[in-house]
Amino acid sequence: MTDLMTPDTDPHRLARAISGCNLVAGELKPARCGRTFPVVNPATGREIGHAPHSDASDVDDAVAAAMGAQAAWAAMPARKRGTLLADCSRLLADHVEELGRLVALETGKALRTESRVEASVVADALQFYGGLGSELKGETVPFHPDMLSFTQREPIGVVGVIIPWNAPMMLMALKIAPALVAGNTVVVKSAEEAPLAVLRVCEILNRKLPPGVLNIVSGYGPDCGAPLVAHPGVGKVTFTGSVETGRIVARTAGQKLIPVTLELGGKSPMIVMDDADLDRAVAGAVSGMRFTRQGQSCTAASRIYVHRSIHDEFVSRLKARVDAMKMGDPLDEATDIGTIISRGQLERVLGYIETGRADPEARAHECSQLPADEALRDGLFVRPVIFTGLANGSRLAREEIFGPVTCVIAFSTYEEALAMANDSDYGLAATIWTRELKTALDATRRLNAGFVQVNQNIVVQPGLSYGGVKQSGLGREASLEAMLDHFTHKKTVILNMT
Ligand code: ADP
Repeated sequence: MTDLMTPDTDPHRLARAISGCNLVAGELKPARCGRTFPVVNPATGREIGHAPHSDASDVDDAVAAAMGAQAAWAAMPARKRGTLLADCSRLLADHVEELGRLVALETGKALRTESRVEASVVADALQFYGGLGSELKGETVPFHPDMLSFTQREPIGVVGVIIPWNAPMMLMALKIAPALVAGNTVVVKSAEEAPLAVLRVCEILNRKLPPGVLNIVSGYGPDCGAPLVAHPGVGKVTFTGSVETGRIVARTAGQKLIPVTLELGGKSPMIVMDDADLDRAVAGAVSGMRFTRQGQSCTAASRIYVHRSIHDEFVSRLKARVDAMKMGDPLDEATDIGTIISRGQLERVLGYIETGRADPEARAHECSQLPADEALRDGLFVRPVIFTGLANGSRLAREEIFGPVTCVIAFSTYEEALAMANDSDYGLAATIWTRELKTALDATRRLNAGFVQVNQNIVVQPGLSYGGVKQSGLGREASLEAMLDHFTHKKTVILNMT
């Protein structure tokens, strides 16, 4: 039996130890119905633990706990809340290795290239927001000399947080940290595929936070997520997931007239001009496409527009780089690329690859090699594929695949590349690769996306506003502005002094 207070780097043992629990009012406990569903290691197909099959009654309990804790939490000086979050961050720093291993086990994301990195971002996000307590400021307004008019920031109340499985700890941290520092209390609904590492994070945070301030329940979307959004005690919902579910969430929030933040899909373009530093652009395509995460990222560079004069060279260098990446056991330090999350997702990705192959104009460049290890024969591995020759209007170039599949499309002029990049339902992230300052600046103005980079392709960072336009979502995350705009109400106060 593991002692939950001590970091445990055996992810199998830790998964078993925290299986079957929600965390409500500071207590680990099962769902009221007593039912659970299995949590499966996608690298082996074996069950590693189980998670509560929570329903509306468990959501009621969690929201009641959050409502009960909210007034005292909001009454605490904002800097004190921030200090508690910073304390949590320090505590989490001791658990980075175990959290990295646990999330690698349940999601199949490679430990060295992905999962350990994600675990350290969690601590970073809490530290960042922990320092922002004193930024919850209002303004004085020179409305009338006889009236003192000012605004103040107030918490919304209870925030419902719904997260996906692809970077569950990081995406949760970027939502709960600003919500909590702003004086809200929180109920998180974890993703069915990855409920364990986020539960562990919340359990660690609950050692510092008052009971009921941060609660987490696990369950299926319609049974547990939907009642959380619909709950009359929840005053704000922040959601990351698919466009379809985002619409359902927004519809319910619309009925209740509560604010909602949505971080949805993407089909992020990368434009590589003929004057670009080719090695750098190729490296940027590898990291931007998140091949190490099997492409399971909303910002994956899944449309790469390359100037015709360098197209073939770019493709051959990109293929060589991805070929050199090792697919294997996510927990093995030598592994670069882990697995797809679930069988359903695997079949979806394979379906897209088949569609691409059936296109007579297209060519599929398959990269890397499936792992030879017998123990991984049931693992959800897919060889990365670079498609060339696809039209910009093809399904593969338009739809979010959420797998290790990218399309390289040749262009002749900058205007043509820009038009193709913007011809999308999505607008999350975009990059341009050029040495020409004028082109770079022009592209930053004209690319329709919420997160635009020149000559690099890094992921969301605490401190920088992150979010999409068009079907990619509503609102911004990760920054000071995200905390102020999305987790507080602004109250106007007027004192008549006559
Ligand atoms: P994905 O296809 O990436 O799993 P989803 O949008 O289905 O994306 O899931 C993201 C999160 O939304 C998960 O935690 C899931 O359980 C939750 N979810 C799914 N359906 C609903 C729903 N109807 N209401 C609220 N949350 C939901």
